[in-house]
Amino acid sequence: MQDVTSSPPVDLLRRLRARGAGDPVTHVERVAARVGVPAAWPDWAQPELRAAFARRGVVAPWQHQAEAATLAYGGGHVIVATGTASGKSLAYQLPALATLLADPRATVLYLAPTKALAADQLRAVAGLELEGVRPACYDGDTPRAEREWIRRHSRFVLTNPDMLHHGILPGHAQWSGFLRRLAYVVIDECHTYRGVFGSHVAHVLRRLRRQCARFGANPVFVLASATSGDPATAAGRLTGLPVTAVTEDTSPRGGVTFALWEPPLLPPDSGTAAPVPPQPTGDHDDLRQVRRSALRETADLLADTVAEGVRTLAFVRSRKGAEVVAANARRALDDAVPGLGDRVAAYRGGYLREERRELERALLHGDLLGLASTNALELGVDLVGLDAVLICGYPGTRASLWQQAGRAGRSGQEALAVLVARDDPLDTYLVHHPEAIFGAPVEATVLDPANPYVLAPQLACAAAEAPLTPADLVLFGDGAKEAVDQLVEAGALRQRPTGWYWRHRERPEVDLRGEGGAPVCVVESSTGRLLGTVDGSSSHFLLHPGAVYLHQGVSYVVDELDLADGCALVHVEEPDWSTHARDVTDLSVVSVRSYVDAGPVGMFLGEVDVTSQVVSYQRRRIATGEVIDTRPLDLPTRELRTVAVWFTLSDRSLASAGVQTADVPGALHAAEHAAIGLLPLMATCDRWDIGGLSTALHPDTEAPTVFVYDGHPGGAGFAERAYGTASAWLRATRDAIAECGCETGCPSCVQSPKCGNGNNPLSKPDAIRVLDVVLGNLPA
Ligand SMILES: [Zn+2]
Ligand SMILES: [Zn+2]
Repeated sequence: MQDVTSSPPVDLLRRLRARGAGDPVTHVERVAARVGVPAAWPDWAQPELRAAFARRGVVAPWQHQAEAATLAYGGGHVIVATGTASGKSLAYQLPALATLLADPRATVLYLAPTKALAADQLRAVAGLELEGVRPACYDGDTPRAEREWIRRHSRFVLTNPDMLHHGILPGHAQWSGFLRRLAYVVIDECHTYRGVFGSHVAHVLRRLRRQCARFGANPVFVLASATSGDPATAAGRLTGLPVTAVTEDTSPRGGVTFALWEPPLLPPDSGTAAPVPPQPTGDHDDLRQVRRSALRETADLLADTVAEGVRTLAFVRSRKGAEVVAANARRALDDAVPGLGDRVAAYRGGYLREERRELERALLHGDLLGLASTNALELGVDLVGLDAVLICGYPGTRASLWQQAGRAGRSGQEALAVLVARDDPLDTYLVHHPEAIFGAPVEATVLDPANPYVLAPQLACAAAEAPLTPADLVLFGDGAKEAVDQLVEAGALRQRPTGWYWRHRERPEVDLRGEGGAPVCVVESSTGRLLGTVDGSSSHFLLHPGAVYLHQGVSYVVDELDLADGCALVHVEEPDWSTHARDVTDLSVVSVRSYVDAGPVGMFLGEVDVTSQVVSYQRRRIATGEVIDTRPLDLPTRELRTVAVWFTLSDRSLASAGVQTADVPGALHAAEHAAIGLLPLMATCDRWDIGGLSTALHPDTEAPTVFVYDGHPGGAGFAERAYGTASAWLRATRDAIAECGCETGCPSCVQSPKCGNGNNPLSKPDAIRVLDVVLGNLPA
């Protein structure tokens, strides 16, 4: 047993926490090392296959790999849901490749959520050098000239759900030879298919199953997932098939020293509050009392670990944040030793393929020691030998937290993981309630294939591929008949004796990644160079005219956002201000699905219409956070029909709880912010998936009301989950506010980084009174 008082990560943590005044560490958890349980190669795995794996250093499978592989080889649909680096890929490679060797006609389709991960898998499979497999990636980057060869000759095609949806299924006639012989469908990192995106992917997989069945194929599905709650149910919902789960991780793991880190509160009116790094649509103005920003703190920790030669990965939630962490760490290192800053870089999903590859290579070879990344890396891009992982802000779910922390110590070494709390109610709650992290099971992956906003367009796609039959409606599940009837009524489908036919020449345009629309390309006007992409739903916030946009530490200013063409033109400029977009929101109740009448308090679940518009942006000095000015914007409104949870209180109950009439708006607004901040504790969402609105008198409820809604058309299950756990959710909200050390409210409790009203008005003490009234009346 190793002496935990003096292991390298413990010593590193001791040095890190001793730097400033006061101790930022609120909790240290020691996650024990685990010994691996090897198994024998299954009898059916051919000697040449075993030899190929042995050449790659795999002498024998771990028990969970062998178990999942054998279930799949026997024809059962399987999900293997185990930790990072537990070797999930062997669990699907083994049965898939053994089948390709045994049956020279069989084919395999592999799906990854990102092109980068598919490219990584391609390298792994190609590296086995098995005769006749001819693995190939088929995605948006695949040259036209190679596509036909792949369709005809590859027996292991690696792609992503978007390409399956936009390319392979519509072109099923060209793929018929491949689909007819399809033996396995591998769905890697399937926990990423959650919410609205997950619901879309669920139907894309049903469309795939339908096409296979037309060609007489009945492939086995093998899914790989990060550790998640109830993976068999989630996989069943995703594929529409009965799936067996293998969840016991039998791979060895090095111990992890896991610290919870809370940046200190800065003194009131402290000039040192600045510079506040730009947050995504951040809103840290007008604040008297703030904590040192998690971005600054993470940048300092990254600089310190890199200076010690510790290979460190910092996970930052936003792409802007990752750029800022890398830039600040580079600056700090260059100040200490000129040139040292070159060993830190930023990485995020929007980078172009060549840039990503170069960064991965540099970190692997040690040219880079520190990398600040969005969760793009979370998706299994293979990085080994990391000594420390810094997690800047709770990633939203325990499942993601463990997956990010799992990057540390892959080679069985002791490693350090640090969760740096953001100035945010959920983060603050978690660093003071470690039992909510270390003592709780990981969340289940939530998706809802019955969402009518997903189901109808997916049925339209299916009908465009081949007419729908009554049997197909069973395949597409609950609500399919209603959706088809609506499509007929809307003139999209025509009913004939043989089924429902798509009526148009053009295919339906459906975006799997939610309402955001196609990604917006960021183009440098002077050179025409494509810098990267931003997803459509963020584009109004991040790429409005005048926005400051960071890419690899270089600052650009947006000249023009062309929404019709999906591109933003930018030029290089480094102004000494950051930009922060503002929006306004309006909400009306469409229908009530369910409610609880609790005397002076009402709790509701129903459909709402939300209208929002990004109307202006602030420019703030980077050095001081001072607001320079607010400039108007002329962007279109966005409409959203979605699901909301809301509660109402009577004026009288508020008055008797001591809330003055003038303070009601601030009380409700503060309660709304904190409630949104704490909802991710109950549902697999983050606060950016959720919106809110509060008002002292809403025309539809005729009472003081707080609304919390899903930020996706048709809802994504989050508001529903909030309604189902209302008293636990609002209890945690109340405690988070009451336990916060600030006096008048701070971002750790009632202020929100995405408030459209500049966090005004807010009343912290009255928010506690509001929640006490609700909790006092609501049945537990
Ligand atoms: Zn506070
Ligand atoms: Zn607000």
